[in-house]
Amino acid sequence: MRLQTAIQNAYQKLKNNNIISALLDSELLMANVINKSREYILLNSNHKISKKDFNYFQKLVNQRSKGKPIAYLTNKKFFWKYEFLVDKNVLIPRPDTEIIIEQVLKIYKNKNKINFLDIGFGSGCILISILKEREDFKATGVDISNHALKICKINAYKLGVKNRVKLFNSDIDKFSLGKYDLIISNPPYIKNLDFKYLKKDIIDFEPKLALDGGLDGISEIRKVIKKSSELIKNGGRLILEIAYNQKNEVKRLLKRNGFYINLVAKDLANNDRCIISTKIEE
Ligand code: GLN
Repeated sequence: MRLQTAIQNAYQKLKNNNIISALLDSELLMANVINKSREYILLNSNHKISKKDFNYFQKLVNQRSKGKPIAYLTNKKFFWKYEFLVDKNVLIPRPDTEIIIEQVLKIYKNKNKINFLDIGFGSGCILISILKEREDFKATGVDISNHALKICKINAYKLGVKNRVKLFNSDIDKFSLGKYDLIISNPPYIKNLDFKYLKKDIIDFEPKLALDGGLDGISEIRKVIKKSSELIKNGGRLILEIAYNQKNEVKRLLKRNGFYINLVAKDLANNDRCIISTKIEE
């Protein structure tokens, strides 16, 4: 069978199963199976696919038709400038989270040797992207998931930053090592009751541990802010990703814990997504 025919059949199957990006997804899965770029496939659609590759392709298309995200089927996802290893134990990096990297680079343009902490690092996409941008920075990461720790370690190794990162498997409540110039976190912040509004791709496949913000959506953010106020140096910054409707509550929490609000940054869809604050009182 030719690549073109296999992709066309996959496209129909995904479309029939209401997968919105049916054609793109079929091409991406094929690219993954034959280990070539998507461009290669578009230029060589007449090439024949081997029986073995075709069977594997069919298997992936089947899983995609049930909603499994492409990133979990290919075990990779681009974030900022790099490709990260991901699996079902870590949240898939989101483009909106790149705001955190942009803000860090802006704030620390003229500062050297920052020692920062990432609470709930998951795949490690945030902390590793920052380390790649700034060679004099060092990072510590803490995550409650031991699986995440394994994935993040591999990413840090593959992207050549493993000597500048220390990773710990712990609940943030039980972590009390060091004092940091900067703390960043993309904690779980989805309200329990809002789970039913999440897309099937997310709710059926991504780790609840990385999404579940408790009954009010901010129980993990609350923990992160409280703990950060102990782990941060005076004058240090805390950068948090939040849900579009959590700005006011999180601002209140930050102020109560001795933080001054610098900025609320918006995401690509113009929603409040990232809140930057400075520790000013003990
Ligand atoms: N941004 C994610 C979503 O849209 C949620 C990530 C999180 O809870 N930190 O589902």
